[in-house]
Amino acid sequence: MLDILEGDYLVTENFACWSAEIVPVADIDRYQIIDDPDDQLGWQKTALLQAALRENVTLPPIVLAHSTPDDRGRYGLLDGRHRFNAAHLESVPLIRAWVAHIGCCGGPAADHPAQS
Ligand SMILES: [Zn+2]
Repeated sequence: MLDILEGDYLVTENFACWSAEIVPVADIDRYQIIDDPDDQLGWQKTALLQAALRENVTLPPIVLAHSTPDDRGRYGLLDGRHRFNAAHLESVPLIRAWVAHIGCCGGPAADHPAQS
């Protein structure tokens, strides 16, 4: 997560428009899906959140950055990796998120952030 925060998004963060949205889990950066069998803490946290989802506990929104669609998805993940993984593993279709729109605030070119 930190490498993302320190990357392109941080530079443009001040220019982002934020909105609360319901986002398809399948559209979120799939490179953020935990696949490391040695990440025991990650799996433990995710398992707890999966249990919460099964009990219909409302989890805090995750934090995403809307970006140009590619093979990773339409949304970069800024915060909430374990909540995202829990939703993915539980096959939850939609997740609540704060979404940063960088250079595409309500404009018609929402999937083509301006390179200003
Ligand atoms: Zn946008």
